[in-house]
Amino acid sequence: MPESRVTAQQKKAVAERANGCCEYCRSQARFAIQPFSIEHIIARSQGGETVMDNLALSCQGCNNHKYNKTEGRDPVSGDLVPLYHPRNTLQGNLRHTYGKKSGRW
Ligand SMILES: [Zn+2]
Repeated sequence: MPESRVTAQQKKAVAERANGCCEYCRSQARFAIQPFSIEHIIARSQGGETVMDNLALSCQGCNNHKYNKTEGRDPVSGDLVPLYHPRNTLQGNLRHTYGKKSGRW
């Protein structure tokens, strides 16, 4: 059974992998008033494990808003849709492509 607590080595590795930025909103930890968290993308309460692929650096706002959810209601269609997943490269690539081409968020 994997360890449930995030180790100091994992915290350091996740923060370095994220370049000190929240993996959801891209805000920078060095300018934040509150310390960033290492959060479970799939919450432990939902069966998520404490492994590098399931850990993300998160600002307090994103961490609190996401809580243990992996899905949310689309405000336009009302459909239940998956929330952004930092390890899903297709979503990550689309996000970066959109931001670069349109220049807005
Ligand atoms: Zn954030």
